[in-house]
Amino acid sequence: MSIENNSAPAASPVLVVGSVAFDSIRTAKAESGKILGGSATYGAIASSYFAPTRIVGVVGTDFGEAEIGRLRDRGIDLEGLQIDQSGETFFWAGVYSDDFSSRETLETRLNVFADFKPTLPESYRRTPYVLLGNIQPSLQAMVLDQLEPGSFTVADTMNLWIEIARDALMDLLPRIDLFILNDEEAEQLTGESNVFNAGPKLLEAGPEIVLIKKGAHGAVLFHPEGLFALPVYPVREIADPTGAGDSFAGALVGYLAAAGRHDFATLRKACAYATVTASLTVEALGVDGLEKAGRAEIDRRLDELLAMTQIR
Ligand code: AMP
Repeated sequence: MSIENNSAPAASPVLVVGSVAFDSIRTAKAESGKILGGSATYGAIASSYFAPTRIVGVVGTDFGEAEIGRLRDRGIDLEGLQIDQSGETFFWAGVYSDDFSSRETLETRLNVFADFKPTLPESYRRTPYVLLGNIQPSLQAMVLDQLEPGSFTVADTMNLWIEIARDALMDLLPRIDLFILNDEEAEQLTGESNVFNAGPKLLEAGPEIVLIKKGAHGAVLFHPEGLFALPVYPVREIADPTGAGDSFAGALVGYLAAAGRHDFATLRKACAYATVTASLTVEALGVDGLEKAGRAEIDRRLDELLAMTQIR
């Protein structure tokens, strides 16, 4: 199959693990109905613009050819996607406040996700760049257990796991290279409302690098070689912020894989690619914006962001 806008053929592969879901999203302007979602879905589609991407997750009997086709059309390797015939796919419903400043979960139906144990096909065990998308920290740890040493590992999380699986999350942190979370989650974990205090505290918990996202206000990278801060790409009309964080993380890991490096300079550029890729996600409902944009639009937005932040 020839894939337009796909990754550079020389790039290292990326493994994305997380939820593959159906979502139902309500905003002031729209009601999505049952649409494709999940942390691994957003992460893998974003990564696929930069590097060959493989996915590990589970879906149920309601996940049809149409959904599979959308992932395949992005060139995503689905060998690690389990199809569980015993039930339906993970379902999540949420509603946003009118100004998108807050979100409430209306419903979470775990369905086949309840018994999910990530299992890496033999050929995935040696993957140089790995995104542990938002799922229980114990499942993220199970993936690390199956990887051969040497992967650069990035983990994302959410408030739920900080509330109900804090110890497992803290145990995971020393085992990963880069921890990505948002400012609210960073405060929840460290008690520090100022990200410049929360970042160093999180580094003490074990990961080599920490990245704190501040929603519409950009992101800060805490690296042994220094600090890097970036605003977001300006979006004037937000349609649906769902999956922005997952798209950010997927693009970041994808870019590192394409570069084949994860030094400070490469990470800074990866952050810039991550923020422009996330901007595509928020402009449309579900994965539509991310899926349709194409690599040329990502590169155009990157140039705009670079011009916007240059200090002469
Ligand atoms: P984000 O907007 O970055 O928080 O990601 C939203 C995605 O996370 C949605 O597509 C949901 O399907 C998925 N999601 C919501 N709750 C969970 C959960 N408890 N575990 C895994 N994925 C979830």
